[in-house]
Amino acid sequence: MEVSGADTDGHEFKNAEEMWMEQVGNPTKRTQWYREGLGYWQGLDASVDGVLGGYGYVNDTDIMGSEVFLKSILAERFPFAGKDRPLVALDCGSGIGRVTKNLLIRYFNEVDLVEPVSHFLEAARQSLAPENNGASDVHKPANFFCVPLQEFTPDAGRYDVIWVQWCIGHLTDDDFISFFRRAKLGLKAGGIFILKENIAKSGFILDKEDRSITRSDVYYKDLFHHCGLYAYKSRDQTGFPEELFPVKMYALTTENKPSEELLHPITLLSLNESAT
Ligand code: SAH
Repeated sequence: MEVSGADTDGHEFKNAEEMWMEQVGNPTKRTQWYREGLGYWQGLDASVDGVLGGYGYVNDTDIMGSEVFLKSILAERFPFAGKDRPLVALDCGSGIGRVTKNLLIRYFNEVDLVEPVSHFLEAARQSLAPENNGASDVHKPANFFCVPLQEFTPDAGRYDVIWVQWCIGHLTDDDFISFFRRAKLGLKAGGIFILKENIAKSGFILDKEDRSITRSDVYYKDLFHHCGLYAYKSRDQTGFPEELFPVKMYALTTENKPSEELLHPITLLSLNESAT
């Protein structure tokens, strides 16, 4: 990426290549990058405040913004979901299961969670247990995978929605691209990714404390292109405190088809029916 950036100490980089070369330019550095990223989270409480960097109070606003976005996409892309067509989601970098518990479990029949920090995943398991009102017979967590995304390969064709929120900044560009390429195979036909992330105004910002990078919208779009993904829809999260990064939601598809077919499935169905 030909965009310049900086780290949290104000050190500037000409472009992303230079930064990645410095950070993960050989296998030892790469191992250290992921070890320190994980180490940061391993040292935090398994709480909403812990996974939201002390901003636990933005949870409700975050979930409301996500819900509006998710609902519009479900209505357009999965209008026939229901009893005969159960919906399955994957919550990536799920932390303590905040997004699953507050949102995904209400819309999906099964939700899998993938999270490398074991005490977070354990907290998710507890809070999603039926005795904690986290699940019912028809809306339940199914699998808990304790691995980082750069090592995770989903089962083929399992998911309608793969949700990726506030964790992809830990992955290098190379691992970002190979993760999404593998994960594409985990989608059902017509399935989508929803990526919700902090956005840098331009270029990127390297956070030396937790070993993550915040990318700009242009940076993300370049990566989507390399993954063979299309931004079908995007939306800015509103209502967050001024001092936080702006946050964007992207719905990403494997096919480049923002067409009539997707926008008006009911019309097309009735046309098909009248043709037979
Ligand atoms: N998505 C959750 C958690 C956000 S906190 C939510 O919105 O509430 C960031 C999470 O990313 C932490 O749980 C952290 O353990 C996880 N994470 C860190 N490195 C990761 C990696 N390489 N792969 C997947 N998740 C990672």
